[in-house]
Amino acid sequence: SAKTILVTGGAGYIGSVVVEQLVGEGARVVVFDNLSQGHRAAVHPDAVFVEGDLLDAEAIESTVAEYRPESVLHFAAHSLVGESMQVPLKYLGQNVTAGLNLFQTMVNHDVRQLILSSTANLFGDPEEIPISESTKIAPGSAYGESKYILERMLAWLEQIHGLRYAALRYFNAAGATAERGEDHTPETHLIPLVLEVALGQRDQITVFGDDYPTEDGTCIRDYIHVSDLAQAHIRALDALAEGSRVYNLGNGNGFSVQDVIETAREVTGHPIPVVSGERRAGDPAILVADSQKIRAELDWKPQFPQLRDIMQTAWNWHQSHPNGYAE
Ligand code: UDP
Repeated sequence: SAKTILVTGGAGYIGSVVVEQLVGEGARVVVFDNLSQGHRAAVHPDAVFVEGDLLDAEAIESTVAEYRPESVLHFAAHSLVGESMQVPLKYLGQNVTAGLNLFQTMVNHDVRQLILSSTANLFGDPEEIPISESTKIAPGSAYGESKYILERMLAWLEQIHGLRYAALRYFNAAGATAERGEDHTPETHLIPLVLEVALGQRDQITVFGDDYPTEDGTCIRDYIHVSDLAQAHIRALDALAEGSRVYNLGNGNGFSVQDVIETAREVTGHPIPVVSGERRAGDPAILVADSQKIRAELDWKPQFPQLRDIMQTAWNWHQSHPNGYAE
């Protein structure tokens, strides 16, 4: 019989694309999501859907008892860096407590395989670029700290309970599949905001700082296609039999805010008016991943390394879903 995989946050942007790939490979997938940020319509119809909150220890306990998964992919979390610097305890409290409840349930039921969504924010404003797994950890926000706390918990659970885990430190997830894309309320991410301008839903895009020490003065980020991220989860899961691991997961190419806007103009044919704004608190100038480790160990490589292709997939989805997942 097919293996059962529990996916927390499987109704969210990245989780829903991973679910789509897992279902495509014939896995039995159970999505556990409180729909605080996720969308019911994003969950693949062949996955089981359980609406529940990880802060409710009994809810996750009974779900694991009922479906008996062999492995867990843990996406569910609050994930806004800026918000975490306004209300840090929402992150240090809820993200950590949600993980704790999930891990306790796994220990209770002897579920020994987990993939954790982690973040490049673990490295704060890094001393070296590109950022490798040996770059110094210094979380740049309460959000990043909440993920680092979970990574540290997992290291102890491996040592004491034999729980195998992979922590994947995402850089900037972007792009879409034909059916699944980025729909946050409120939207704060650059690419969907730019495409909302192209759709006529916003008047302009504000560039947060144009005096950074980069070639064009705007911040450089490593945008990685969500399908490439998803594929990395599937490979990491298969590799857990050989032991736990942590990987930095980016495309390896940096693109500036200006590059993103230019590329969106080319792809959409819309002028996309820009205004200069203040720097956003906590934004480092450059974040680019060194993904050599995952490339070498899991034979993973991005299928969408070009920003233009990433943008095109996002634009296709935005055009076919102008109101996101809303009816
Ligand atoms: N950004 C911007 N204007 C916006 C939203 C984002 O200039 O309206 C910039 C932001 O400062 C950062 C980059 O775009 O340098 C990517 O931001 P996003 O929020 O998409 O992802 P993050 O890097 O924060 O994870």
